[in-house]
Amino acid sequence: MRKIVSVLLLWAALCWAAAVQAAQVTAVHWGVDKDNVLRIVVDLDALTTYQVGLSSSAIDLTVDASAQSSALGTQKVKSTLAASLETVAAGGKVTVRLPLLHQIEDGAYKSFTLKQDPVTKRPARIVLDITADKQTRTGPTTASNPKPAASAPKPAAVQPVPKTASPSGSKAKVAAAEGGVVISNKPTKGSGTTGTGASTTAPAKTTPQPKTQPKQETAKPQTSPATVKKAEAPTVPAKGKAKAEKGSGKFATSGGIKDKKITIDPGHGGSDPGAIGAKGTKEKDITLKIAKELQEQLKKKKAKVSMTRTADKDVHGPYASDVDELQARVNVAERNDADVFISIHINSSVNAKVKGFSTYYYPKSSHDKRLATAVHNKLTKNFGRDNLGVREANFYVTKRSSMPAILIELCFISNKDEEKLLQSSWFQKKAARLLAEAMEDYFK
Ligand SMILES: [Zn+2]
Repeated sequence: MRKIVSVLLLWAALCWAAAVQAAQVTAVHWGVDKDNVLRIVVDLDALTTYQVGLSSSAIDLTVDASAQSSALGTQKVKSTLAASLETVAAGGKVTVRLPLLHQIEDGAYKSFTLKQDPVTKRPARIVLDITADKQTRTGPTTASNPKPAASAPKPAAVQPVPKTASPSGSKAKVAAAEGGVVISNKPTKGSGTTGTGASTTAPAKTTPQPKTQPKQETAKPQTSPATVKKAEAPTVPAKGKAKAEKGSGKFATSGGIKDKKITIDPGHGGSDPGAIGAKGTKEKDITLKIAKELQEQLKKKKAKVSMTRTADKDVHGPYASDVDELQARVNVAERNDADVFISIHINSSVNAKVKGFSTYYYPKSSHDKRLATAVHNKLTKNFGRDNLGVREANFYVTKRSSMPAILIELCFISNKDEEKLLQSSWFQKKAARLLAEAMEDYFK
């Protein structure tokens, strides 16, 4: 019995080691909010363990992972705390070092992890928030009395490794969520709307929340309560909440495509690359190309097109919460009083063999499914790719928009063949043409 237990322990330890080894840093970003909190975000392909160490001259975030070469190197930082940020990899660890322009206190930073978000395709992340002007913000007495740089250096305060979801555990979870291709959340009963589409667009408690909300942080902030309170306000960067806007609640569903109002949403953008392929193809770039092409095709058919974005940028703002970012996209459709909303995405799976098309809708009205079916059938009949089906799902943009809306997942960037396909302008143009034709079918 004891032998079995120790074998199991050894096996668990090996799994842990393998999982830790497997994590890879894909990018390192930074941002400063209006409260002068410097946020460093490390993107990962899987959650892993990390440590934060503070000395008088620098703060180091050391992650147990390897790194993509594109994530390494020095970046300029515009903060009163630091002028640059350096990311190096050595000995199975990646260290993000921030040389400090002035000394900070132990309690001036907090760190936490964010799980991969299958809805928005945001990667697993480690976040380090550093309150730059802690002293100047705690009261008038200290405001004009910053700490002299020459004060005695503090001993390096290496934080204990936060209890993130165990790497092997989180990996398994991601696999469970994505291995079968997609996440099909059951919609909340009774929260859908019908007919005119006059919908409950206010982001309410029934919203299927993306997994990156502050409450989902998997590690406890390691700071004094006072700092936590200040730094927890998710305000990186300075930008208010995306307030839900409402259109007329009316939408046309027939009578030909001419003059129909169509909002196209190229998934992700700016600070959010979406899924990334083995060759480095970013979802946000492909969705934008297809969306722009679709815009042209629809204009030729005399539809009135609005776009949530036409460049590589966030719609609400960089590093906004997922709810704010997604609501900002819905707002574009509401503001334009769109007849349909179409969100374009590329799928990704931990299983590199999975490929094909899937189309999602939320049953606010019978037209949501009809739109999804029209688009999905058009794509699958004309591309010889795997048909993963038309699926009901609780996605923010399809649920919260008052008009019929769909979210399409065009192939898998995680599949070698499909990544290549997605990169080709032949595919992008054909996908756009088929989408435009499907819209035409829908409005017949
Ligand atoms: Zn996506």
